[in-house]
Amino acid sequence: MESGSSPSFTKPVTCMMLESRALCVVCGAPAIGRNFDAYTCLSCKAFFRRNAYNDHIRFTCRISGSCEITILTRRHCSACRLNKCFQQGMKKELIRSLVAINQATPGTIINRHHHEQQPSSLTTMNISPPDNQRVLLFTDWNLLTNIRNAYEDYCIEQFLASHQKIPLSIATQPYRSRIKLQRLVAIKLKYITVLISFIKRILQCNPSTGNNYEYIKDNFSTLLTINTSELMKSNVLKNAPWENDRCLFETVITENLLKRADEHLNVFETFLPYDPLIIKTFLIILALSSRTSPLFGKETYNPIDFHPFPKELILAQNYYLTVFWKYAIYRLGYYETVIYSVRFIQHFLRRQNIEAEIVDVIRNRDDQGQLAGLFETTLNI
Ligand SMILES: [Zn+2]
Ligand SMILES: [Zn+2]
Repeated sequence: MESGSSPSFTKPVTCMMLESRALCVVCGAPAIGRNFDAYTCLSCKAFFRRNAYNDHIRFTCRISGSCEITILTRRHCSACRLNKCFQQGMKKELIRSLVAINQATPGTIINRHHHEQQPSSLTTMNISPPDNQRVLLFTDWNLLTNIRNAYEDYCIEQFLASHQKIPLSIATQPYRSRIKLQRLVAIKLKYITVLISFIKRILQCNPSTGNNYEYIKDNFSTLLTINTSELMKSNVLKNAPWENDRCLFETVITENLLKRADEHLNVFETFLPYDPLIIKTFLIILALSSRTSPLFGKETYNPIDFHPFPKELILAQNYYLTVFWKYAIYRLGYYETVIYSVRFIQHFLRRQNIEAEIVDVIRNRDDQGQLAGLFETTLNI
């Protein structure tokens, strides 16, 4: 039986503050941990990873090389920010090279089961030769590293940046309904935009898939909660005022429904210890599926719905799926990978029932369709 407790979601704000006391030595934002030998926030971590080796670019400071770097000014001067990273002890040698990742110890997070004797019986629709199915090749590690970096640059960083732009409102304050609805739309837009820019970045890396965005753009709404879970796991929401957003959702989609959504999210999080790549890769696989989202307002069909799904997308999805299998088996062992994948898909399908109910609630609210209308116009990305 799945437990209904929801520890991380309902945590009071004060607890979250206490947990995130360490501050980034570069900009002063809440730190996420030790990165390249210094406590930094995620933004400074990503900034350093992208720029520490860029000697050829040579940033220049437009003032005198002594800009103050804070959470608000850190984007203004890359030269001073990078200098400060080095001054604070960040070491570029610690940026893991592909070779280093390749040689890393497996770090298996669950003891490998003896069931895993016959991984070769695992069949995927693989486009590469069978010998390549079991072992992560150099190109696979390269792909995985790119996924992780793309997620940091296009999903997390943009999330944090957009968070600063959306005005905070105190959740308990009885503000007018129209403002409330617009804020809800702004929040949803924020969550979906970062997800889309991550997936678009991935498509850009595969030139053959680049022009097929139209075929997959309806998929994103169903991936929002999975991505929210991943953002939580990356400690991003810990430092963002999620509690305010949550209260807003609660007043709009009802407490009961949000509670069920929470429970689902928490069950989902108990599937396995956190892994930095598994969900990110799964997100790509699901995004590249044809029509994973039959739920969202499709009264009128787009002619594109009847076109055959482009072959390039199927091949790309298959490639990510193959790499996913190899990586998951490397991390979890064959048996756990199978169990995990089945549970994940079950969860994803059940999740769509809840989403369908949420869509119903939004459509049938007593605001004459204001919210549904706002959602449809604003989220037409
Ligand atoms: Zn920072
Ligand atoms: Zn400067």
